[in-house]
Amino acid sequence: MTKFSDLPLGPEILKALDKIGYQTATEVQAVTMPYILEGKDLIALAQTGSGKTAACSIPICHKVDVSRPVIQALVIVPTRELAMQYATEVHRVGGMKGVKTFAIMGGEDASIQRAKLKSGVHVLVATPGRLIDFIYNRDIELDQVETVILDEADEMLSMGFYEDLDFIIQCLIHEHQTLLFSATMPKEISKIAKQHMKDPEELVLQRKEPSPDQIDHRFLYCTHQQRTIDLADKIRELQPKQAIIFCHSRIQVEKVAKDLKSEIKGVDYLHAGMSQQVRTVVTNKFRQGKIRLLVATDVVSRGLDFSDVTHVFIYQLSDDPYIYIHRAGRTGRYDKKGIVITLVTKRELHSLTKVLQLLKQEAKWIGEPPKEGEGERGPPKRTARGRAPSRKGPPRNKS
Ligand code: AMP
Repeated sequence: MTKFSDLPLGPEILKALDKIGYQTATEVQAVTMPYILEGKDLIALAQTGSGKTAACSIPICHKVDVSRPVIQALVIVPTRELAMQYATEVHRVGGMKGVKTFAIMGGEDASIQRAKLKSGVHVLVATPGRLIDFIYNRDIELDQVETVILDEADEMLSMGFYEDLDFIIQCLIHEHQTLLFSATMPKEISKIAKQHMKDPEELVLQRKEPSPDQIDHRFLYCTHQQRTIDLADKIRELQPKQAIIFCHSRIQVEKVAKDLKSEIKGVDYLHAGMSQQVRTVVTNKFRQGKIRLLVATDVVSRGLDFSDVTHVFIYQLSDDPYIYIHRAGRTGRYDKKGIVITLVTKRELHSLTKVLQLLKQEAKWIGEPPKEGEGERGPPKRTARGRAPSRKGPPRNKS
């Protein structure tokens, strides 16, 4: 086990880690920090919940020269919530040393962000869109940046940010270190690495199992009409300390939250259609434990760390088993126990098969399991015109 006190870190950083309660490094931290401290480029395949935010924040804060009020590290993340979470961790680790950090993101007043940048920021956390606006308008100086971190790189690419990232990296023409963290390795990442990184160290730090052992996966067979009633019953029975209830769409989120609110206390909701201010308030209230049950879209399924979430409820199963894995990963953070309960209807049994294959588990049913053969797909039924109906699922909703 690597103790932080055995690493070549400054006294203010060690003091801050002690205050936070971090004594030994997680695997991701122990393996990546020596390379980061050495100034090497790095590609790390690591999942959220592994301590990767601190793995970067600790060496970066150690390296920052606080006497120079210029941006020395640039962190690029896919979402606003992740930007705030990252900036909070950098502040916790580097605040005592005097490291100034700030997050710029869309949906918030650009003039306030501009003024803040002028006051001197050492570690800038940004979402790609707002960063590009600032670069275009010459509101930002990046020529002193020594380290660039691309966090949740695969998620940024799947959100269509490839060209934005490529543009941002091309703006950094001077020598610098690049650190790329990703859960998976799509080919665009290899392309970015080939074009913009210097002989990067590649580290695979993923768990062998897609979901950690401390997460208990359970399934509740129900009818479409019973979903909300069964969900409310389960919540009342289990009395979770904190839970996230994942829905597919913004409309579904608002409907489920409304139905639950009429019966249970401490319910609120979050989706990307809400104003940034409201999203920030809700995220902070949930983090502080002022909201007990958060009904949300996948806007909170990636990267966000809510360490007290004891239960995740999945209101409707997605056909993509990796969406299940990301949603489930909001509980059981950093070795805590977590329970995931998914409501499954007959139509979703085929999606469940994919999830179970990925988890390498048998279904653990709460209550009555489906009958043998139920949900199996027979030959497609013919319509009146003799054609088989379309197999396309409902359109994907925005988060
Ligand atoms: P992350 O993967 O960065 O989202 O971190 C997951 C969780 O692990 C967060 O709640 C961190 O506060 C926690 N964490 C990170 N590093 C350590 C550490 N060395 N010791 C204990 N907890 C940690």
